[in-house]
Amino acid sequence: MALIACPDCGREVSDAATACPQCGRPVQPPAALKPPQVIEQTSKRFKGVQALGCGLMLAGFFVPLIIGIIMSESRTQSNTAMAGLVVATLLLPVGFVLWIVGRARAWWHHG
Ligand SMILES: [Zn+2]
Repeated sequence: MALIACPDCGREVSDAATACPQCGRPVQPPAALKPPQVIEQTSKRFKGVQALGCGLMLAGFFVPLIIGIIMSESRTQSNTAMAGLVVATLLLPVGFVLWIVGRARAWWHHG
């Protein structure tokens, strides 16, 4: 709980109070301030999911490309490189799904 200065008379008012006890000016209730913060935090989380999805998609695109280049340059087809290629390629659809989920949930939330 914190004290805030009344914008009208300057008296210190508890942020839990609905109005200034001196001049009666309505103090913005915490309940009216919290929802936008929650939405902001939630959309940030969705953006995080989307960013993660984007990162995975990029990794799923570039890592197999790099492994492919290394494999063709060294002209060897090791099982480890092949396995890496397969796993890295799987990042692409996983990242895509995460990105879609992030977007869909953000849309749903702002609905
Ligand atoms: Zn006041």
